[in-house]
Amino acid sequence: MHVVRIERVFKDYLLGDQIVQALSDITLHIERGVFLAIAGPSGSGKTTLLNLIGCIDRPSEGWIYINDQDVTNWPSDRLADLRARSIGFIFQTFNLLPVLTAAENVEYPLLNRRDIARDERRRRVDYFLGMVGLAKYADHRPNQLSGGQRQRVAIARALAIQPDIILADEPTANLDQTTGTEVLRLMRRINKELGTTFIFSTHDQRVMEMSNRLVRIEDGVLWQLGVRSGKQWGTINLQRRGSETETEE
Ligand code: ADP
Ligand code: MG
Repeated sequence: MHVVRIERVFKDYLLGDQIVQALSDITLHIERGVFLAIAGPSGSGKTTLLNLIGCIDRPSEGWIYINDQDVTNWPSDRLADLRARSIGFIFQTFNLLPVLTAAENVEYPLLNRRDIARDERRRRVDYFLGMVGLAKYADHRPNQLSGGQRQRVAIARALAIQPDIILADEPTANLDQTTGTEVLRLMRRINKELGTTFIFSTHDQRVMEMSNRLVRIEDGVLWQLGVRSGKQWGTINLQRRGSETETEE
């Protein structure tokens, strides 16, 4: 079973009187439990693709399936409910609420879940803050935490709903190299321990070392898929690239 299926998806934006084709004929099947990197230069369509997978935005054409359900034409409130139960988000700029403590930030997405009682909320906050190594920082506000710690709070917040999928849009872009690597390692450990599917965008080459699925995108077109088995990568080129001498990011 695929946790996400994207079938022949196009996404156009209207900018003034110009149409920007952000994604063109994307087909992508994502297996449950993978640690998938979407790699491509700035402007290639990574955020657009993540927003479609996260049901934050809708395709101009094509179909999106989450857990084998065709969600393409679901009404907004049904999509909001799907997101609240199944999809966790991690952002480049962390997006923590500055007036809330680390614990309150992690608890926040659970507050509108009536099926989760207060005791269970507290249990999850403790558990996931512990998992990201921040038990001692529960009462700190974001401005009392380093960048790496803030991103770890954001990871705990994404995990709190116990989602099937975590989407992370360039989660290491605002971190120094060492901290970024630590954050990726943490995400990878959680992926292995909990089996949560991680889909993240990056223009960092080093993610190859950690991911087990790779999608390369350029100008809104997928051009390479990679699958790791053991230490070996198998790659499939989907499109001939414009220029053989072009350097990759
Ligand atoms: P990336 O995340 O890889 O940098 P994006 O998905 O943000 O790329 O953008 C892909 C393309 O779509 C770019 O050309 C960008 O300018 C355009 N784009 C993205 N969002 C919008 C929008 N809301 N309106 C118009 N154009 C957009
Ligand atoms: Mg982006």
